[in-house]
Amino acid sequence: MKAHIVGGGFGGLAAAALLIRNAGVFGQDITIYEADKQLGGGFFLGGSPQSGYNLPGSVFDKEFRCTFDLLATIPSASDPKVSVKDEFFAFNDRDPFNDRGHIIDRNGQVVPHRPRFGLTSRDFFDLAHIGLTPEAFLEGRRIDEFFSQQFFLTEFWLLWSTIMGSLPQHSAIEFRRYMNRFLYLFPDLSDMKHILRTPYCQHQAFIEPLAAWLRPRGVQFLTGAFIKDIGFAPQPDRITVDRLDIEREGVVTSVAVGLVTTGSQAADLSVGSMTEAPKPQSGGRSVALWRRLAQGRTDFGNPDVYFDPAKAADSRWVTFTVTTTGTEFIDQMTALTGSAPGTGGLVTLRDSGWVLSVTIFYNPEVIGQPQGTNVWWGYGLYPERKGDFIPKRMDECTGAEILEEVVRHLRFDRQMDAIVASSICVPCNLPYVNNIWLPRRQGDRPSVVPEGATNLGLIGQYVEVAQEIAFTIEYSARTAWDAIHTLLKRGPEPPPVYQADYDPKALLNALEVLLGQ
Ligand SMILES: Cc1cc2nc3c(=O)[nH]c(=O)nc-3n(C[C@H](O)[C@H](O)[C@H](O)COP(=O)(O)OP(=O)(O)OC[C@H]3O[C@@H](n4cnc5c(N)ncnc54)[C@H](O)[C@@H]3O)c2cc1C
Repeated sequence: MKAHIVGGGFGGLAAAALLIRNAGVFGQDITIYEADKQLGGGFFLGGSPQSGYNLPGSVFDKEFRCTFDLLATIPSASDPKVSVKDEFFAFNDRDPFNDRGHIIDRNGQVVPHRPRFGLTSRDFFDLAHIGLTPEAFLEGRRIDEFFSQQFFLTEFWLLWSTIMGSLPQHSAIEFRRYMNRFLYLFPDLSDMKHILRTPYCQHQAFIEPLAAWLRPRGVQFLTGAFIKDIGFAPQPDRITVDRLDIEREGVVTSVAVGLVTTGSQAADLSVGSMTEAPKPQSGGRSVALWRRLAQGRTDFGNPDVYFDPAKAADSRWVTFTVTTTGTEFIDQMTALTGSAPGTGGLVTLRDSGWVLSVTIFYNPEVIGQPQGTNVWWGYGLYPERKGDFIPKRMDECTGAEILEEVVRHLRFDRQMDAIVASSICVPCNLPYVNNIWLPRRQGDRPSVVPEGATNLGLIGQYVEVAQEIAFTIEYSARTAWDAIHTLLKRGPEPPPVYQADYDPKALLNALEVLLGQ
């Protein structure tokens, strides 16, 4: 049974592993096509200690059920006797986040956590209202249609939006899903105690171990292989893939099952340096195939809802990874927040125009990182606004300018020269990373197995799965599991999505926070 997987991100790799583990497909019958030179998609690892690393930040929770079920099978990169799952939970149990200074004001002072996160009774009722409204009534609607302006000034909203990524103009449906899924995190939003992260960068923690498990089983990886089109057999009312067109490398015609990643949050990513801002990219190769499939039909969703360049202001982030051989920044942050390096979680600069958040990684963040080198990371939630010290849009700034903006906001001016001299700040422009939050309607994302499909499954972030929340590897793993189970009718069904609103303990804890003093 020849299985072809388009996309070598977490979703594509998970699909290959699940085909082998759950459906008994032989590894040598599976091929993964990845347009980029490197596997990993959104879980990229670029640069070096000399040029500065470029990597994404890390937010997970314990209820990634499909993901951790799969990763229990996969040996970790650090110790082949320990699974990726066990390594992940052992690390988080040993070194949980304990964010002691999460919000910093314009004077460089920690803003103390407030009772009820500053929420009023009205905010509580508005939260309950949206949580209890069925999705059918939220179609195409925005979060800010359901709350007062005051709500968006509360500590709750600042913490929520900087951890989860939502903006007031984003999807009420996705907000409802996040709320019902993460109610259990309410008591710990400030210290981030139950928010989990990988022991080292996601590429090495998840992507490399998965690839290392798949390779000896005979799975073929074709990198630099862009699938420009997919052909269907001429059958009325049925969708049967019988051809894959690979740019420059010809055509594949033996297709028993095709699993296609429709789009990527890392689409059109561009990387800068200390002296250069990231050059905007366009071309949308990772969404081109989805556009092609959706052309002239209604059952393959609507890519423009997510990938219209005119909407990038509501989906863009600029992230920055700082590789440093000095300790000045980290020492200052430790003194300011009281959190030991690597344990603090996000620190949000409340009054920054870009709404900056930074986090100091546990050391080492990259396996093989030289001794004496540290890595920290940050991002701007509003990168198209002007900075407060650097009067430019964040996506037009060099790494040096972003570093200066952060240091000045924190009032570490006296350490500025030493910090800049020992640091390489690599900015990364991600115009579509937050597009999973854009307002949507039923049908904007296609089904995992479109109506009438006999051997085609769609996987990744832009496919509809009931209840599940996007911007998570869990979403991609679940779509892969679901597609394989539906098409091949082999192996177990995916585990149900965890819903905190049906978990009495989680509900009670959340109510205690929201109604407490
Ligand atoms: C900065 C950042 C931070 C993130 N942090 C987290 C986090 O902390 N926790 C979390 O759970 N999730 C996080 N995510 C989301 C995470 O990246 C995704 O959940 C996950 O990686 C998605 O996997 P995927 O395989 O579905 O898509 P992607 O990782 O986007 O991979 C899709 C791949 O398909 C390839 N492709 C697309 N079309 C074609 C084609 N026609 N031919 C060949 N190849 C093609 C693309 O090049 C891409 O490599 C983050 C994402 C980013 C970008």
